[in-house]
Amino acid sequence: MAEDTIFARIVRGEVPARIVYRDDEVTAFHDIAPAAPTHILIVPNKTIPTLNDATPADEALLGKLLLTAQRLAREFGIAESGYRLVINCNRDGGQSVYHLHVHLLGGRKMTWPPG
Ligand code: 5GP
Repeated sequence: MAEDTIFARIVRGEVPARIVYRDDEVTAFHDIAPAAPTHILIVPNKTIPTLNDATPADEALLGKLLLTAQRLAREFGIAESGYRLVINCNRDGGQSVYHLHVHLLGGRKMTWPPG
């Protein structure tokens, strides 16, 4: 059931996570397997499985995910050194949890292009 991804359970408080921010619309928490010194996931509280499933009604929510990432980058001291935001979509994008999320990665130099 779409509502029962691990991230939906974290949003509902049923599974523990190192939450760094939450409000009525979004929740942010440390990734359990960090790929960088700072690796935070920002998710909408409502379940949107992939970016493909977002609609024009989600426009403000999508903007909020980015502005939350921007603010957390400042709070975690990586705004000036730089960071990368990643949204993986479906199989070829490398998505493994089907609850839309933005990865905030920083604290080291990122390589390009990604693998
Ligand atoms: P995706 O591959 O879907 O873009 O990213 C999923 C991310 O969720 C991965 O970086 C993975 O380490 C993280 N993750 C998976 N399960 C959990 C969990 O139970 N708790 C937390 N905090 N992160 C998780």
